[in-house]
Amino acid sequence: MSKHIVFLPGDGIGPEVTAATIKVLDALKLGFTYEQKLVGGAAIDATGSPLPADTLEACRQADATILACVGGPKWAHAAYDKRPEAGLLGLRKELDLFANLRPAIVFDALIDASTLKPEVVRGLDILIVRELTGGVYFGTPRGITDIGNCERRGVNTQVYTTSEIRRVAARAFELARKRGRKVCSVEKANVMESGLLWREEVTKLHAEKYTDVELSHMYADNCAMQLLRNPSQFDVIVTDNLFGDILSDAAAMLTGSLGMLPSASLGAGKPSLYEPVHGSAPDIAGQNKANPLAMILSLAMALRYSLDRPDAADTLENAVKQVLTDGVRTADITAKGQAFVSTSAMGDAVVARLNG
Ligand code: NAD
Repeated sequence: MSKHIVFLPGDGIGPEVTAATIKVLDALKLGFTYEQKLVGGAAIDATGSPLPADTLEACRQADATILACVGGPKWAHAAYDKRPEAGLLGLRKELDLFANLRPAIVFDALIDASTLKPEVVRGLDILIVRELTGGVYFGTPRGITDIGNCERRGVNTQVYTTSEIRRVAARAFELARKRGRKVCSVEKANVMESGLLWREEVTKLHAEKYTDVELSHMYADNCAMQLLRNPSQFDVIVTDNLFGDILSDAAAMLTGSLGMLPSASLGAGKPSLYEPVHGSAPDIAGQNKANPLAMILSLAMALRYSLDRPDAADTLENAVKQVLTDGVRTADITAKGQAFVSTSAMGDAVVARLNG
């Protein structure tokens, strides 16, 4: 059955990297249908809302949504609910996307882009699964209160339930089955009750259903150190919203290049959201300079996890690897003095590899 993709170009470099990604999708000749919808600042300008109802409905119906990026100085001083980022947060919440997948892959051709030594990051391929809709960012009570004597108190609540932990851990175990069959569960069970519950529930679920996957546990502070010391020890890391936020950014930087990093957010059902990790890069927007590979690799993730075409995902990822091995570079991944190509030329290079 033909699949349907919604593209959300958003703001800044978004339309440029989306155009390159659509060219690549066309070149894959999968017979999928697709449409483009407004989100973020572009949607605010056109409709007054960062997430118009027809965009949300289209994303609910789609087999996969691929968003480029939102935001920019034009909307930076608006009220929080009228900022472009509210469109993105609203989408994640409305679609109940509780598992955020952040791969950190080091391509051999880009090994020198990492700030770590080549021998530490060579061949790196890890996947961080971050819980995205619970934990301290959403827990109540929260807020800042005046407690007298010129003192104020800020409160946030770290809270998880059994089902919230089990559903994201199940995703991690299932993903590990398709990779290296290892899951490292990360929390602070030594000092936090929510961390202890996390550890107990993950352990229970593993014993019930996933004994074919190797499970280890690690405290979050140690995990941060291990990611820098010996990142290749990890296959899949599963962790909560707060630790995942921090550890996934640290892992991303092992690869050295923001323009190369895709992500996926999955829920229990069909709706899913794929997006590059980078923002709208207002400093280079409209100049045909942005690296489209993070969005192109987000398409590859969508092919693998939502569109039932893991074969096409492999083909696309291999084409990207070949293009990098050929020495084709956008400005963000060049060494000083090296020649570089435009956004559209990078897209064309991937298309040429797919056709060739
Ligand atoms: P950014 O990721 O947009 O840019 C950081 C730096 O990386 C800039 O120098 C930029 O030119 C460069 N860069 C980013 N993507 C690139 C690419 N594909 N190719 C080449 N260079 C690239 O982060 P920022 O500057 O902190 O934020 C700019 C805007 O983006 C803000 O409005 C912010 O809120 C928004 N933002 C959106 C998302 C999202 O849509 N998911 C994520 C982060 C930031």
